[in-house]
This record gives sequence, C-alpha cells and structure tokens, in this order.
Amino acid sequence: MTENPTIFGKIINGDIPCKKVFEDDEVLAFHDINPVAQVHFLIIPKKFIPTLADVVAGDTGLLGKMLGLVPVLAAEQGLTAGFRTAINTGKLGGQEVYHLHIHVFGNRPGGEPLRTIAGKA
Ligand code: AMP
Repeated sequence: MTENPTIFGKIINGDIPCKKVFEDDEVLAFHDINPVAQVHFLIIPKKFIPTLADVVAGDTGLLGKMLGLVPVLAAEQGLTAGFRTAINTGKLGGQEVYHLHIHVFGNRPGGEPLRTIAGKA
C-alpha cells in the first residue's frame, strides 16, 4: 500500500483524533477542525488518493459511493434545507491537505444561506 504522508492518513490510522461522522471499510467522514458554516464535515477515502486529478478508472465506484453519502450524511447532520460541496484540487485549487476529500458544509434550517460562490471551503 502507498504510504499516506498526510494528516488525514494519521486520522485514518487513529494516530490523530477526529469527530467522526461516518466510517466503513472504505470511507471515513469527520467534522472539519475549522468549520466555515454551522456544519462542515469532510468525506475521505481510506485509500490514499492525493487529489481528484489522481483518480483512476478503478476509483469510480469509490467516488460514487462517497458522493452518494453526501446527502445522507448531510441530512443526518441537520442540513435538511441545503448544503454545499467542494473538492479543492491542487495548488491553484486551494488544496491544503493532499488526501482527496469532499467538503460538505452549510447552515441548519433558519440559518443564513451560503452566499459566496468563489469562497474557499
Ligand atoms: P483543503 O484546503 O480542501 O485541502 O481543506 C483541508 C481541510 O482540512 C481544511 O478545511 C482544514 O480545516 C481541515 N483540517 C485540517 N486538519 C484537520 C484535522 N486534524 N481535523 C479535521 N479537519 C482538518
């Protein structure tokens, strides 16, 4: 297995704690340490894939599973009136942690709508 040098690799291994949202054998989801909205969590594959640009054909099932989890976990976390997803990719995409992750964030019903479309998750 490719070594995973990122902080998310340490979270997967249990070396660094996280506020877990979901886990199975392929996927982990946990709350972002620096939330940009009332609810902000990340969905990551346990397989080390640095960026969306590194995805290969064999990863499409895994990616589909991660995307399918988005509305399920969002609803479980109280985002029943909408949410935003983001995948920052590469240096100019603003990616800071080089382990593929889907940001899911938003405010609960009654909260402010998300307005900035260019804002970084
Ligand atoms: P990105 O810029 O898309 O790579 O986003 C990386 C995200 O990881 C940021 O929103 C950080 O707040 C978040 N993050 C970094 N370290 C941790 C951590 N230990 N636990 C949870 N989230 C983290």
